[in-house]
Amino acid sequence: MCARHVGFSVFRRRPDFSAPDTDTMTASQPDHTAPNDTSAARTSWLLDRTEALCRDDTTTGREDQGLPNLRSVLDELDAKVQLQQVAPNRHNVLATWGKPKLLFSTHLDTVPPFLPPRRSGDLLQGRGTCDAKGQIAAQLATIKELLARGHTDLAWLGVVGEETDSIGATAAGALAPQLAECVAVINGEPTENKLATGQRGSLQLQLLTKGVAAHSGMPELGHSALWPLLDWLQRMRELSCEVDPDLGPEIWNLGVMSGGAAPNIIPAHADARLFVRSIRESTFEQRARKLAPKEGELKQLSFTPPEVFARVPGFEHAVVPFGSDAPRLRQLVGGQRVVLCGPGTIKVAHTLDEYITGTELTLGYDLLIKLATTLLEGRA
Ligand SMILES: [Zn+2]
Repeated sequence: MCARHVGFSVFRRRPDFSAPDTDTMTASQPDHTAPNDTSAARTSWLLDRTEALCRDDTTTGREDQGLPNLRSVLDELDAKVQLQQVAPNRHNVLATWGKPKLLFSTHLDTVPPFLPPRRSGDLLQGRGTCDAKGQIAAQLATIKELLARGHTDLAWLGVVGEETDSIGATAAGALAPQLAECVAVINGEPTENKLATGQRGSLQLQLLTKGVAAHSGMPELGHSALWPLLDWLQRMRELSCEVDPDLGPEIWNLGVMSGGAAPNIIPAHADARLFVRSIRESTFEQRARKLAPKEGELKQLSFTPPEVFARVPGFEHAVVPFGSDAPRLRQLVGGQRVVLCGPGTIKVAHTLDEYITGTELTLGYDLLIKLATTLLEGRA
C-alpha cells in the first residue's frame, strides 16, 4: 500500500493551497488545568474526553469525521499535529512533543454500527468506548501527566483502518524517520489493563470442492460438491487443538460457506472460508490439506504470522484472543519493543453492549504512567 503525504484542509489555519508534503500545526492555547488535580477530576477528564470522541461516527472509512473533536483534545496538550493522508478523506494523525523517545498509538476507526455514547455515572456505553476511543483518552491523559512531570519527548499516533485491512498502520511506516529514537511503542487495545503476551497469527483459508451438476431426480448422473466438503470439515473438527504456552490455543472458525445453485440441482461447486488464529510453528494448514478429499483444493487467502512480545518485568501479562496493529507499528520504532495494553475488555468490544467505565480508564491511566516511566527510564 502506498501512502501519500499531502496537505490537509479541515484544520488548516491559513489559506494555503500549496499542498505541502505535510501540514504541521502547533496549538496556541494549551489548558493545563486537567487532569492533574485529583483522582476524581482525572476520572471526569477521561470520561468526558472519551464521550466527546465517541460522538462522531468514525466507522472504518469515515475516520476523518472524528478529527475536530480529536484535535481539540490534542490542543489541550499543546501538541504539534501532523496529518498523513492514507486514502481520500482518511488520515492518520501524528502528534509530537519534542524529539519523541516513546510512541503511544491506537486506532481511529470503529466497527459498525455506530452507537452514540450514553453516560450514566461511572458507565459510558456506545460504539468505540473501549475500542478504541477510551484508549485515546487514557493515552493522552498519560502524555499530559508525563509532560507535567518534565518528560518532553513523546509521540502519539492514531491510525485508520485497523478494523479491516490495517491500511493506516501500513502507511504509517513512512513516519518512521520521525520516530527513530523511540525506545518502544505502546499500542492501545482493550486488554483489561494487562500486557499482552503476544498475539496469534491470522490465517485465512479457503476450502473448495468441485462436483458435476445433474438433475436432482437423477443423482447418479452427477457428483455433489457439498457432501465431500462437509465430510472434510467434519474431519477437521476432530483434529486436536494445539496450544502455545505464550499465545494460548490455536482456534479456527468456519465463517462462511456456500455451494450449489438450486435445491433441485446436484451442486457442482462448494467452498468454505476459515479464519485460523494461528500459533507459532502451526501445522494447521498442512493437516487440513492432508484431510482433503480427492475433489478438494485448499487455498491460503492471507497470513499474518503470530508474534510473542518481550515481557516487561513487574507488570501483569495475559494472553489476548485478538489481533491488532501492534506488529506493524513495531516498524515505526526501528523494531524496538512493542507493548499491547489498555483499559476495557474485548468481551464487549464489537458488540451492541460496548462500554467502558471511569474506573477502568483511571486504572488504565495508572498502568500507562507506570509503564511509560519504566520504558523511558530504561528499566525494561
Ligand atoms: Zn481495537
